[in-house]
This record gives sequence, C-alpha cells and structure tokens, in this order.
Amino acid sequence: MFGIGLLKGLSVTMRHFIESYLYDRKPWEPRYHEEWLRKRQSVEGKGLFTIQYPEQKRKISEHFRFLPMLVYDETPDKPRCTACGVCARVCPPQCIWIQRATDEKGRPQARPAGFWIDTTICMSCGFCAEFCPFDAIKMNQEHEIPTSDRDRDMFYSLEKLLVPVEYYAKLHPSDYAAEQQERQAKQEARKQEA
Ligand code: SF4
Ligand code: SF4
Repeated sequence: MFGIGLLKGLSVTMRHFIESYLYDRKPWEPRYHEEWLRKRQSVEGKGLFTIQYPEQKRKISEHFRFLPMLVYDETPDKPRCTACGVCARVCPPQCIWIQRATDEKGRPQARPAGFWIDTTICMSCGFCAEFCPFDAIKMNQEHEIPTSDRDRDMFYSLEKLLVPVEYYAKLHPSDYAAEQQERQAKQEARKQEA
C-alpha cells in the first residue's frame, strides 16, 4: 500500500532513537558507554551507531598507515637509513628529499645528513616502506596533527621523522616480529657459511 515503505523507514529511525536512550544515554552511567562502544558497530549493535569523537576513539588496525617515519635502533644519530635513495625514487608524488652525509674529506657516508618529506603531498601509499632494503622507513599511525601553518609544520625533517625501534615494534608488532625472524635466519645462514 502507498506509504507503507515510508512508515517502515520512519519506524526504524524511531527505534534507533529510543535505543540510543536505552543503551547510550542512561542518566546513571557516563554518557559515553565504553563497554557498548565495542559492540556498537557489530551486527549486535544497538543505540548510537556513531562514535562520539574525540571523546571516543576506535582502535586503529595494526595495518593502518598515515605518514612515514625513520627508525633508529640505539640512538637517533645512528638511523637505519643508509641514504641509498630507493624510497625517493619509488615515491609516486616525489615528496622525499635526501642529502647524503660526507666525512671530513668529502667522501660519501652510508647515512643521511638531511631527510625531508613534504607530508602535504604524501599520499600514504607506503611504497617507501615497502621498497626500503634496510627496514629503515616505516609508516606511522599518528594522524591527529592539526596545524595552522602547513608550510612550517607539515614539511618533516630528519629530526621530526626519527623514532626508536621500540615505537615501531609497538605500532606494527606482527611486521616487526616477522622482520626479526627473517633477520635472525639470515644471521644464522651467514654463520653457517662462515
Ligand atoms: S629510508 Fe630506506 S630506502 Fe630510503 S634512503 Fe633510507 S635506507 Fe634507502
Ligand atoms: S607513503 Fe608513498 S607518497 Fe608518502 S612518502 Fe612514502 S612513497 Fe611517498
């Protein structure tokens, strides 16, 4: 009958409206129901289907990536990066610039003197991390980086890009574990060859 579909649609809206009070806005509980947040976007979800950002935040997937970061193992003056330039070559929008360090005689060194990424151009593709032969560049998940001056704050230099390996291991535990395993296997193979 004409209008039945409309009434059905409105009844769904009304049900969610009422459920939002039953499940999310209980006066005797905090407004943002953390326990319900887990279930909310599953098939069992009832009540408010939206996340009350920024008070509530969804857990980020391990494989989420935003901007690149440079990993160091012990101290920031010894980054894993060897300034080989592979990442700069594969970067589709060409937003990476690297300056190789030199010794006192001007001979090139296997480390960067400068490393810059224009994050306003970066498209978070992750190619740089994928192609780096030294596991030196990885993808960071930090994405809440509002600024009023993009030229000043979004042009990342070496100092801003460097992070300790522990930080990377915490963000991407399974990738880190797989890399460690591969590294150990290579070391074992080298020992046996020797
Ligand atoms: S981050 Fe990796 S690919 Fe890029 S210059 Fe450094 S070592 Fe080479
Ligand atoms: S994530 Fe992609 S676009 Fe961004 S710096 Fe790396 S290669 Fe370039």
